[in-house]
Parts: sequence; structure tokens; C-alpha cells
Amino acid sequence: MKKAAVIGAGTMGRGIAYSLALNEFLVYVNDVSLEALDDAKEKIEQDLKTSANKGYITENDVEMSLKNLSFSTNLKESVEDADFVIEAALEKIDLKVDIFKQLDSYCKPDAILATNTSTMSPTEIGAHTSRPDKVVAMHFFNPVHKMKLIEVIRGLDTSDATVETVKEIASKLKKETAEVNEFPGFVTSRMNCLIGNEAMNLLMEGVASAEDIDKAMKLGLNHPMGPLELADLVGLDTRLRNMEYLHKTLGEKYRPCPLLIKYVKAGRLGKKSKSGFYSYE
Ligand code: NAD
Repeated sequence: MKKAAVIGAGTMGRGIAYSLALNEFLVYVNDVSLEALDDAKEKIEQDLKTSANKGYITENDVEMSLKNLSFSTNLKESVEDADFVIEAALEKIDLKVDIFKQLDSYCKPDAILATNTSTMSPTEIGAHTSRPDKVVAMHFFNPVHKMKLIEVIRGLDTSDATVETVKEIASKLKKETAEVNEFPGFVTSRMNCLIGNEAMNLLMEGVASAEDIDKAMKLGLNHPMGPLELADLVGLDTRLRNMEYLHKTLGEKYRPCPLLIKYVKAGRLGKKSKSGFYSYE
């Protein structure tokens, strides 16, 4: 397992690409948008340099990581040599199924195909390929270079060998894994989305300000970040898609807060659009 491909160069894709390249994988980063690829290239380089300036990695690590990375809008070219592919495109099931069908036709027969979905079913995605035993979810956390966990979600037909291999990959990335049997939202997203949604309901009902809700959770309940700050970091569009999927699969408890829907309609997507529950101008 030396050659990897990352599909989707947004918030998560570029973090995953950074982590793979720094840990000596050759990485092809693919996106349908040339602008997203240019942006990812620039941000990965910036993040590597910041880490080197802070003494977390060496100048040699920066140089080696940059050499390990290639960027392309051509999916076939990006994945045909890969031993391992991780998809981090938008949280839409039809899109993920379509990407996996293409991956199945372009990738080597023994390549492992992983999705970084926050909520969705690796079983459903794998069922549209000829290799459901080699399809698995590897749920990374944001920001990838700082967060220690990868949640590994086993679909109905995911083989033991695939689970073992992705755990080895996680260990090469110096991450811990938690293994979960597939169920919508797994462990982390199911709990985290509910906490975030309740914080949004509290804000909408005027119970407290965003600052005080986050402060209460940090200082009172010892959360490292407030739920509204965290939603801004995730991206409110991504969080809304997560909530819609959980609402559809798990029921009423997960109905997305109307304030979240309103913010997404207004283009307030959190940190990435410089405005969400907080302003980042
Ligand atoms: P994002 O919106 O930042 O980036 C998505 C990228 O996918 C965009 O650059 C877009 O151009 C690209 N894309 C769309 N269609 C594509 C296609 N057909 N082929 C290749 N690229 C395509 O989204 P994100 O926040 O990085 O989320 C990506 C995935 O990771 C989602 O499934 C999300 O649920 C999951 N996730 C997100 C977070 C988070 O904190 N944002 C955390 C864990 C998991």
C-alpha cells in the first residue's frame, strides 16, 4: 500500500492528502473543479510550512510531502495505479454511488475503495461495485492533521482483510481507530450532529447567545470546542446534508434545525464562506 488517491479536494480531501503525503504515500488528488485543486494545493503547502515553522515537522518533510502529491481532474488517471482510494466528495449518496461505480471500473481489482462519509452506508455504496468486500468507510476528523481518530465502519460485506488493511493504513498515518458496525451516523456523527442541532435550537429559541452556548459547553461540560464553533468548522452545508440523511434514516429526533436551513440558504456556510454562527472576516 504505497499509492493512494483522494477524490474530492475540499476541507477533508486536502487534509487527508496532507496526512498521506507526509507519511510517505504517493498521492493523487482528484476533483471535478480545477479551482478546488488549485486551492487545495496552495492550502496544503501553507499548512505544511506552518507545521514546519512550529517545529512539528522538518523542512525535509515539507519537501518530501510536496513531491509525493499530484493533482488532476482526470479520474481514471488519478486512480488507475492506486492501491487505496479514499473518497471525500460531497455528502450525497447518488454522487458517492456514481463515483464508486467509476472507481470500480478504473481501479486495480485488488485496490481498496474507502469513503470518508460522515453518515452514509458503505454497504449501499459497495453494493454498486463488483468488490463490496473491499469497500469500507474510513471516517476522518477535521482538521485531519490534528485529530487522532479514524472511525472504521464495516459494511455488511466488508472483509476482515480490508478492515485490517485500513487499520494498518491508519497506523501509518499515526491515527487510532475505532471499529463500528454500520448504522446511520455511526458513533461520532450520530451523537455530534444531535448536540450541534440542539445548540442551534437553543440559539433559535433565544435561550442564549452563540458565544454563551459554546462557553457553557466548553467550561461547563469540558468540550474542547463549542458545538456552534464546530459546526462552522465542519461547514453548515455539509452539516445540513448530515442532518437530512440522519432525519431520513433515524427519524424525527434528527430533524434539522430551521436556523441551520436558513443559514445555508443565505450562503452562510461557516468558516469556509467567512460567515456562519460567527463572522470570520
Ligand atoms: P467540501 O464541500 O469542502 O468538499 C467537497 C469537494 O468534493 C469539493 O471540492 C467538490 O468540488 C468535490 N467534488 C464534488 N463532486 C465531485 C466528483 N464527482 N468527483 C470529485 N470531486 C468532487 O466537503 P467536505 O467538508 O470536505 O466533506 C467531504 C466528505 O467528508 C463528506 O462526505 C462529508 O460528510 C465528510 N466529512 C466532513 C467533515 C467536515 O468536518 N467537513 C468531517 C468528516 C467527514
